[in-house]
Amino acid sequence: MSAEEQLRADIVEAGRRMDARGYVASNDGNISTRIDKDRLLTTPKSVPKGYMTPDMMVIVDYEGRKLAGDRDASSELPMHLEIYRNRPDVNAVVHAHPPTATGFATAGIPLTRAVLAEVVTTLGSIPIAEYGTPSTAELPAAVRKYIKAHDGMLLANHGAVTCGRDVMSAYYKMETIEHFAKISLVARLLGGENLISREEVERLQGLRGMYGIAAPAPLCADPSEDIDDPALCQVLEAPEGTGERLIPDVNAVLKTASRTGEIRLTYGELTALIADAVKNLRDLR
Ligand SMILES: [Zn+2]
Repeated sequence: MSAEEQLRADIVEAGRRMDARGYVASNDGNISTRIDKDRLLTTPKSVPKGYMTPDMMVIVDYEGRKLAGDRDASSELPMHLEIYRNRPDVNAVVHAHPPTATGFATAGIPLTRAVLAEVVTTLGSIPIAEYGTPSTAELPAAVRKYIKAHDGMLLANHGAVTCGRDVMSAYYKMETIEHFAKISLVARLLGGENLISREEVERLQGLRGMYGIAAPAPLCADPSEDIDDPALCQVLEAPEGTGERLIPDVNAVLKTASRTGEIRLTYGELTALIADAVKNLRDLR
């Protein structure tokens, strides 16, 4: 199998998995990969991603002009091109509408809490790119803000996009985002997540080298500061300085209380609330 045939086969396989896992409906979603410095291979327009064959792919240049193929490239190609322009280290892009992650994207809730060690180590934080009309220049512009510092992001009221060193690695990041969204949803239904402390996050990210993970960006030094445009660091919600590795999410406890008019706290949650109040008092001085 030639290198290009392998790329075609990888896109077909990633499309099949996206379909099997329900990440797309109808003709949704698109996948692309670099062939070389002048050419990209991408999925065609108007084809269900679970039913593609290798010959259906379209070859385009980095301006989006078609070079070969019987079909036309996806209308979301400009978003892919924007990612390649900003990320010379990346060779593939995957876009889909996985339902739980897209639910978060639609509710305006980013996946930026330090909750799962695996996600902290691989993707870090998963922000929401602001809403842009699909297939227009708005979507690439929205993605541009975060793509330098993130390998995956939600797209407001639309879906998610990921990138990676090859097709399958970009696809697996999509799986990680959807899996993380499902777990976050369940944890919130059960009363809220415990958060991983900042110290532990730094330890986890320090392990990236050991697993051969090229981290897209470091954590922002002061998460409360407005991030640059475009972002060059990641904002991750991870409480600092408590000495504990897992910390109850104080805000979730308070939110539940305001809904039910009743507060039931575990010892850990009470301690965290008091620590938070003391910290706020100190910051006020
Ligand atoms: Zn889409």
